[in-house]
Amino acid sequence: MSQSGDLYQELILDHGRKPRNFRPIEGGAARGVHDAEGYNPLCGDRVKVFVRMGGEVVEEASFQGSGCAISTASASLMTDAVKGKRPDDVRALFDRFHDLVTGKPVEDGLGKLLAFSGVSEFPMRVKCATLAWHTLLAALEDRATPVSTE
Ligand code: ZN
Repeated sequence: MSQSGDLYQELILDHGRKPRNFRPIEGGAARGVHDAEGYNPLCGDRVKVFVRMGGEVVEEASFQGSGCAISTASASLMTDAVKGKRPDDVRALFDRFHDLVTGKPVEDGLGKLLAFSGVSEFPMRVKCATLAWHTLLAALEDRATPVSTE
């Protein structure tokens, strides 16, 4: 594996073991907090994503749940990546991320999320990598129904 490949692997392992922003956000809708739950039956990953809006932008994002290393690392890196972004920018970022993990050519601008480029070689893992993102979008849109990747 190439050197950058090793680095990416390290990043996923690190975030899988020690996820960042792994906690709920208290306060509920009255304080601009939205949440949603997601489930990936293919792998058994479960995630609950919290997002706190400050005006037009995501001020804070966090998650809880249990899943494989890829799903945990993806949720962890996502909650860092979306901070300070408007919902439209979050959607655009997810589109690029989705292209990355499904092996489509991507423009730059993914930062650490590029660590997931290897997922495109394992189609079974695409849903692990995208679960937290689908769930975040549901939270931003206040969709009550739990997200399932199936
Ligand atoms: Zn998984």
